[in-house]
Amino acid sequence: MKKDTQCIHSGTFKDRATGGVNTPVYTSSSFEYLDATCNVYPRYFNTPNQRAVIDKLSALENTEDGVLFSSGMAAISTVLFTFLKQGDHIVLQRDVYGGTYHYAMSEFEKFGIDFTFVSNDIDEIANAIRDDTKIIYIETPSNPLLKITDIRAVAELAGSKNIVTAIDNTFATPINQNPHTYGIDIILHSGTKYLGGHSDICCGAALGRKSMIDKIMNSAINFGGSLNASTCYLLERSLKTLSIRIERQCANAQHIAESLQQNSMIRNVYYPGLDTHEGHELAKKLMKAFGAVVSFELNNSKINTDTFIRSLKLVTPALSLGGIETLICQPATTSHEKMKEQDRLSIGITKGLFRLSVGIEDKDDILADIEQAFENG
Ligand SMILES: *Cc1c(COP(=O)(O)O)cnc(C)c1O
Repeated sequence: MKKDTQCIHSGTFKDRATGGVNTPVYTSSSFEYLDATCNVYPRYFNTPNQRAVIDKLSALENTEDGVLFSSGMAAISTVLFTFLKQGDHIVLQRDVYGGTYHYAMSEFEKFGIDFTFVSNDIDEIANAIRDDTKIIYIETPSNPLLKITDIRAVAELAGSKNIVTAIDNTFATPINQNPHTYGIDIILHSGTKYLGGHSDICCGAALGRKSMIDKIMNSAINFGGSLNASTCYLLERSLKTLSIRIERQCANAQHIAESLQQNSMIRNVYYPGLDTHEGHELAKKLMKAFGAVVSFELNNSKINTDTFIRSLKLVTPALSLGGIETLICQPATTSHEKMKEQDRLSIGITKGLFRLSVGIEDKDDILADIEQAFENG
């Protein structure tokens, strides 16, 4: 099946009792066991609603299996702690999601895990690998500058050395990029963003080969970050419109990025779909469309950043991203606030930088709102 069809049909099953066309919501946390073939229990990640979503996501990411979590960070932390132990080393991209960066900085040391932050440069990644390296962890496009990492090259580097590779594929979504096809072992998502898509649920997923998912499942049962049936159902419902939402959001983002690039109030536009973007050629090889996050840096000499963001009427200054409504945030004061200022500046996150999560509204309405805020700002 093609992706549009998988979104609707994979995993979803009919209500056997009534013939209803939607997966029924099974709210039980207790299941009879005498004649059962396995113990069903929400924290064993094996309820029918968890299964329905995992089967849909596995189809979309072209993986054998997966685990659904109660947040993106539950997925990320569980996966990393599955494959890391005291004395191990991990190589991570420096410009990972702010929460992942904070997790690495505050958790690894106390468990005796050594880590090296690297850029998205493949030689730098290769040079950081040591004999005790167990994981290479990447995120592409990255947040918030949409840097592109050569996924295939990372998979090749690790493959010859028996290192587990993991990618945070949240920004690309399974519609635009399938890293498992490029040889990456574990695909991670914050389902709170595009998969959920309506800014009303919190969830995460890890997907990969069955043998790896079994290991992750073992640790996941201990850590306990499972997802409840009602949220599973909302996620399943959202995934049915994933491909059409993403198509519209990416088309809007491409148009907005191209228009903003012409605007004198803006110093820089970061979007992998622009041929001025440093990762554009690579993105063309890895991605179907270029995602729906556009970052831009205001020309501080012409415009005050505080007045600008307060002058917006349609575009909402709000945290998070990936929903159907257009949101904007200033990474330096939000997602990357916990980072030391010098570290933040070293990866290009200035006070004038804004991250726009483009929704499915009419693109001209979104642009008009930004342009009126430039005039008032
Ligand atoms: C939001 C986000 C996360 C964390 O997900 P939660 O659902 O908030 O735990 C991880 N990675 C990326 C790229 C994100 O945007």
